[in-house]
Amino acid sequence: MRPDLLARLAARQQAQAGAGLLRRLRTVEDAATPWVVIGGRRLLGFAGNDYLGLAAHPALRGALQDAARRWGVGATAAHLLGGHRAPHAALEEALAAWTGREAALLFATGYMANVGVLDALLARGDLCVQDKLDHASLLDGARLCGAELRRYPHADADAAARQLALRPGAAALLASDGVFSMDGDVAPLRALAALAQRSRATLLIDDAHGLGVLGARGAGSTAAVGLDARAVPVLVGTLGKALGTQGAFVAGSRALIGALAQFARAHVYSTAPPPAVAAATLAAVRLAQGDEGEALRARLREGIAQLRAGAAALGLRLLPSDTPIQPLLLGDACTALAWSRALEQAGFHVPAIRPPTVPQGQARLRIALSAAHAPEQIGRLLEALAVLHAKAGAATGAVPAAP
Ligand SMILES: *Cc1c(COP(=O)(O)O)cnc(C)c1O
Repeated sequence: MRPDLLARLAARQQAQAGAGLLRRLRTVEDAATPWVVIGGRRLLGFAGNDYLGLAAHPALRGALQDAARRWGVGATAAHLLGGHRAPHAALEEALAAWTGREAALLFATGYMANVGVLDALLARGDLCVQDKLDHASLLDGARLCGAELRRYPHADADAAARQLALRPGAAALLASDGVFSMDGDVAPLRALAALAQRSRATLLIDDAHGLGVLGARGAGSTAAVGLDARAVPVLVGTLGKALGTQGAFVAGSRALIGALAQFARAHVYSTAPPPAVAAATLAAVRLAQGDEGEALRARLREGIAQLRAGAAALGLRLLPSDTPIQPLLLGDACTALAWSRALEQAGFHVPAIRPPTVPQGQARLRIALSAAHAPEQIGRLLEALAVLHAKAGAATGAVPAAP
């Protein structure tokens, strides 16, 4: 008998619930960075990717409102069919200049940018070599285009080299996150660039969490280690994190961008993002590049140092990371969930990240810092973590149990 798809899906969900891995959709009833109101309670948020605190910045709000007055809300069509408006063009130019590339192409989301660029570059039978912890959209992009996907152990450029060497004759893309979204560490970018160069593979770096945060003038993780457009010919950036808005882009040579505009189906067959959002993003880019951006990054670095020093003093196991993503490894999913719930009771929103988002046995709290956090607020989070750590029995030295 033919299996029922809806019943199968429901059974899958049941199994997920049984394993304690069901995700809960929470509605944020109000937000005033870094605060959120959830379930009628005001919580100090350490969950978002608004690393510079730009999402609610008056300059962005103003730009959005002005542009909405002029352009309305929707772009009304795909870029190639009349949806490409002046704010999109201005934003693409600014993003290219900021990242030191000839040109840039907008996508509605980072997920679509990755799927789009892999789909345009790779064909069935090509080789796509990726870090095991790359973002899901890079993995999905490789699956969709039918390339042979090989994933190397996290941050292991030598393993990547061995995978590329297995098929020296195949057209190959080497793809990595710049900053890993659930770990906060930076990829071995120089080693990957050198590997791509000597093995004639094309290097793609997805800098969703590095852009605006790392490098001179916030130009990102690749700029921070001096890699230019020749070393990283395909650069993906997203706009919904440090820039505080929505959308994504691919930056590279004029030839690459021109071809992506033809062949990246996620760009061709999708409505252009609202022009007013592009205008707000342009304001965000100007801010992030400028002196205010420098000041925000300095503040963010201070917050990161404060959290790490405080956690170390408490004996808490933060993963090694110099970025605003500061994961506290707890081990099993139930423990991570218990800590997250206890923190919520104490007035903090710090989500538990569980499999399959992270590998089995590596459930964690993902503490995300922002320039919008005051030192006193980070201090209060540390105090709450200290209470949980003490309850969990730090004396055993084992992975803390549920409080
Ligand atoms: C968030 C993220 C994306 C997806 O970007 P969206 O604009 O949210 O779709 C892609 N890559 C990485 C590394 C990310 O962290």
